Amino acid sequence: MPLAIVAVALPSACSAPQPVQRDAAHKTPGVAYVIPYGAVPEAELRRAALALADLTHRPVERLGARPLPPDTLSKHCRDGQPGTACPTPSYDASRLLDHTLRGLPDDAFRVVAVTTEPLDTPAHESLIGYARAGERAIVYSARAPGVYLTEAAHRRRVRHIVAHELGHTFSAGHCEKACVMADVVTVADLDHTTEHPCPRHRHAFAAGREMSIDGPGFRADVGAEQMRIGAWDPAVAALQDAVRLDPKNARHRTALGIALMSQGRLLAADDVLRDAALQAPGAPQPYYARAVMYAAGFDPYRASAHLEAGVMRDGDPVRAHRAAGILYQDLLDRPKAAIQHFEAHIRYGGRDPEVIARLVYLLSPTTLTITDPEVIIASWDPERGLMIARAGGR
Ligand SMILES: [Zn+2]
Ligand SMILES: [Zn+2]
Repeated sequence: MPLAIVAVALPSACSAPQPVQRDAAHKTPGVAYVIPYGAVPEAELRRAALALADLTHRPVERLGARPLPPDTLSKHCRDGQPGTACPTPSYDASRLLDHTLRGLPDDAFRVVAVTTEPLDTPAHESLIGYARAGERAIVYSARAPGVYLTEAAHRRRVRHIVAHELGHTFSAGHCEKACVMADVVTVADLDHTTEHPCPRHRHAFAAGREMSIDGPGFRADVGAEQMRIGAWDPAVAALQDAVRLDPKNARHRTALGIALMSQGRLLAADDVLRDAALQAPGAPQPYYARAVMYAAGFDPYRASAHLEAGVMRDGDPVRAHRAAGILYQDLLDRPKAAIQHFEAHIRYGGRDPEVIARLVYLLSPTTLTITDPEVIIASWDPERGLMIARAGGR
């Protein structure tokens, strides 16, 4: 079976927000950076830097202005006629965030990217700011307010936006209380909601500020962040640090194994994942990771033993059997085993429409066509388990 790439997103990269880890023994605080995209007024950069210094307790440095990369234009602009200007230009906040995360300075603790252009994502028509749990960068749009604001009011708004997005990076979700983490739809709403965290989220900010850039938790977060954007080399380096700093942590070791696998260092990945399985014999993830690696061409005959070992250890049989069935069907070309797992998914109460569609498909052999995948992308979704998708060859 031809293999080009196996990419497995880290369990920690997209799982439910984890409490921020304290790395008390490590004391390198790092630097907070402000990066302007396009022409951003000096006063706005000053407001962002003030907010960042106040909220992170870090020294703040400003990096030079960067042009807005064309591939961060919003989808409706990218879909337009090539060579003609987009009539309503806006930028995709998630693409801009990913762009910002590439090649950050080694000492970056947090980074604020600011633009005066409007932001959106495929899921949100307009956004004030954007950030992801456990990652180092936030982006926000500093649009002209349209009404007169005093400098003090302006600073308060910027601080509010930066605090809210930083809170997300410290794994705080949206909050129903009077809290800076309350979900705000328009910039004007910011003036009617508090810029302070509720007691619970005050704790998240305090824990976030306590992190140091050379602690194992921070390095593991950097590894997950770099994995998400497909930057395998920095991901491996960060996760190697995390394992060296906290050798007993099987989660970091599993993440390192997956990063090595993505980088194409399959033998090294196999060793690390074997160690992770020995360290945490009850954890399914090291087994799943090895199953994907073997299934994708490394040694397909060994995949199913690891897959079954993972399913056996998985506390959620509905998602485990779903994932196993997909792996058997898509990568291992073993429809009978796939059917058994899809049936088990249903027996345990699962009603995933994709599983049902696949089962119907497998049980009507006249429609069966199997083509070898060339690029396999697997990711871990906390709700649905191991997600395996194929893309075309490259
Ligand atoms: Zn938010
Ligand atoms: Zn709150």
